[in-house]
Amino acid sequence: MITVPKHRLHKSVIPQKYFLTIVPILDPGFEDVLGAQWEAPGSVLVNAFAAKATKTITLHAKNITIHNVTVIHKSEVIPVRNVSQHDRFSFMKIHLSQSLIPGDLYLINISFTSYVSEVLNGLFRSSYTNEDTGEQEWFAATHMEALHARQMFPCFDEPNLKAVMQAKIGRREDYVALFNTESTGNETMQGVDGWVWETFAPTVQMSTYLTAMIVAKFQYSEAPGKLLPETRVRTYAPSHYIKQGAAVYSAEVAERILSTYGEYFKEKYPMKKFDCVAVPSFLYGAMENYGLSIFRETLLLHFNHSTESKRYIVTNVISHELGHQWFGNLVSPEWWTNLWLSEGLTKFLEYIGMNATIPEFEPWDIFISESLQLGLRLDADPRTSHSLKIDEDAWLMKNEMEWFDDIAYKKGGSLIRMMQGFLSEPVMRKGLSRYLARMKYKSAVQDDLFADCDKEGQLAHKLPENTTLKDVMSGWTLQAGFPLLRAKLNGENNVTVSQEKYISIRGSGSERKMRWFIPVSIATARHPNFDPEPEFWIRNNETSVELRLPANSWLILNAGNTEYIPIQNALNLTKYMKDHAETEQVVWTSLLSMMKTAFKLFKETDDEFTPLKKYMLPRIEKAIQATGGFDAIKMNSTGMPVLRHAQLLDWACNLYSRGCIQYAMELVKSWKNTGQLTVPKDFQTVIFSAAVASDSSGEIFDFIKQQYKTAEDTLKDQLLTALSHSQDTGRIKSLLNEITKRDLLGDNSEALVLLQHLGSNAKAADITLQYFIENFATIINHFGGINPIVVAANAMAPHLKSLSGLFFIDQLVQLNTELFKTSLAPAVSRIRANIMWFDDFGEDMLEFFEQNSIYQRDFYKRRV
Ligand SMILES: [Zn+2]
Repeated sequence: MITVPKHRLHKSVIPQKYFLTIVPILDPGFEDVLGAQWEAPGSVLVNAFAAKATKTITLHAKNITIHNVTVIHKSEVIPVRNVSQHDRFSFMKIHLSQSLIPGDLYLINISFTSYVSEVLNGLFRSSYTNEDTGEQEWFAATHMEALHARQMFPCFDEPNLKAVMQAKIGRREDYVALFNTESTGNETMQGVDGWVWETFAPTVQMSTYLTAMIVAKFQYSEAPGKLLPETRVRTYAPSHYIKQGAAVYSAEVAERILSTYGEYFKEKYPMKKFDCVAVPSFLYGAMENYGLSIFRETLLLHFNHSTESKRYIVTNVISHELGHQWFGNLVSPEWWTNLWLSEGLTKFLEYIGMNATIPEFEPWDIFISESLQLGLRLDADPRTSHSLKIDEDAWLMKNEMEWFDDIAYKKGGSLIRMMQGFLSEPVMRKGLSRYLARMKYKSAVQDDLFADCDKEGQLAHKLPENTTLKDVMSGWTLQAGFPLLRAKLNGENNVTVSQEKYISIRGSGSERKMRWFIPVSIATARHPNFDPEPEFWIRNNETSVELRLPANSWLILNAGNTEYIPIQNALNLTKYMKDHAETEQVVWTSLLSMMKTAFKLFKETDDEFTPLKKYMLPRIEKAIQATGGFDAIKMNSTGMPVLRHAQLLDWACNLYSRGCIQYAMELVKSWKNTGQLTVPKDFQTVIFSAAVASDSSGEIFDFIKQQYKTAEDTLKDQLLTALSHSQDTGRIKSLLNEITKRDLLGDNSEALVLLQHLGSNAKAADITLQYFIENFATIINHFGGINPIVVAANAMAPHLKSLSGLFFIDQLVQLNTELFKTSLAPAVSRIRANIMWFDDFGEDMLEFFEQNSIYQRDFYKRRV
């Protein structure tokens, strides 16, 4: 017998269909007819069948007032003895006077009042200012993942208990109401002036956490509809954004990506409409609700003046949420311990979506720095690593949302990409299609995924003999961490390739005996092929394998760069380097994002910055020259070249490249003299900042400051960032003096933005903290609290590893221990972590920079 964990439902009652009626009340004045402002009175009728004989129906409800419960069996009311609510796991238990009959259908009708809450989950409220009218507008939205549907209506709130959802939403006439499915019409609400009932079509079988609702004064842009004639695709947003055309791009892209995924898997998106909604406040980036995905507005709207990097991010987030319509929505994880089946698969799918819509960004190249390396980083540290398939007891120990981390997304996505590496793209695609076809409208565990992909892998002979895909993949998903491969030359031509667990911090070697089943792709001088197809496997009962290398050859392991492993000691790399250009772009993307932590912390003091600069700058400048020089990218260029160039310029200027600074100065001076701004949008921040940082006279600083006062919103952030880059103590102080005035900064929110930017300027850290201490009372008075200090401290913490920062923060805490007790703790622990990180790696890295000649395989990848 399988025991059910205490926090899970026993599945003695299985829901088939919900009919939800609800009225979110956003305005006062309806107390007598509907209810008070921020209440959401409603009822839910659940069709459910009994799977076991039980006298108790257990479902979920949280922060809901229950008014009445009736249970009906074949038109007869079963007396309810009482209803109890249990806090810890939000169980709502309906105790009946007689036992349910297994196999029979029951109707459970519950009337309740839930709440349009302030916290941004469940059914929640938020507001924005309508830019056309200046009015504050309230709206209601939802976020149910992972355990919040139970806050809007009583339900069986587990992803495996899928049912059909239907809804009737009460709203005022001047609002729109949206649900997972399309509206089927509306009618006047009897007895309540100016209100209507809007009814919605039934959904497909779905999990409760994907339920969604919006009541708002939003408008929409609609996709052309040519690619997906059966599905109407729209993007909703506050009306002033729609007028600016800011939702046109996302509606079009959403339609293209929905049709791409449908064709890719031969499994169409199943509902008649798909809406993306841009809301001004959202706790997460976006949420993939079935048919009604909700996005933080900055991640969905695209303006004429948006940068290329913004276009990439918007497309990336849409690709992700739409990918979930298949992985997560059509096939859901059985329970949250398998959440990587939703997030990891979708992380992988994102790049297929982007490849189809924005190939100019070369998305699969970006995968390496954006996903693979970040997954490895978290997974390498025993303090943050955990198995991809989450242990049930461990899951209970943390807040359920903390498990939505880089392991679930980026390790998950990288392992799917590794599977595609050894199975090949066509086989992987067939495997995933098989999984979708078999499991659709159901929920899955990871073995379901492995079983379907295994069938295709065996047919195509892509797996080692007598081995299933589960044999290969279980070690990767059930064990925390990943292996490190080492290649060692024995004599002339024999190579030993060995595996051990990779651990990034010192003194934790006990787990090094763990083993994985590893596909190894190789390239040699004689066979310089960089296909991801494995040349051989290291099995999970082997520590190493022996290879014979042709004379005078080099060897590169993980040649396809698809494996979820770092490689040490690739052999004779200098030989390889001589044959190949060092300027390949993807090398830079990967290398530079890996160097970010080092850069932030090394920049604090000159002793450490100089070796880093000496190592990095010649390489960066060489890469810039190879792509056509500092001014290679002109206005209106698009795609990956723009992003790469922006990244290279950013590094070059931050490393005080003379060429870069000269280029920046010329551009800003030309703007100053001619009044014409000719800096491409993606480079504005870096160019303005470099000019301000190296401005000795203060002339540029004053010019940028003047521009800021009159600039349009679309330029303000770049200018303020630039000002905050000043390296001049006097000018930094003058900026700080502005935060409590209205001379430069329009309002307090601009002051907070300035403090955030100043945080990344190492030169400004001590000056800023000192300023806070000296002007403590004025700041608290002006801002009505300590928020600006906390914002600044959090922004500077990632850049600090010296004790002076901690010293100043400690002084602040002593000014008002009560206020600061918890709010500065994250900044303090971040600085302490930086100090530890530097103790662990600082010396080695400095030595590496100084030696300047070691070149790691990790940094190297052929463009594919
Ligand atoms: Zn996701």
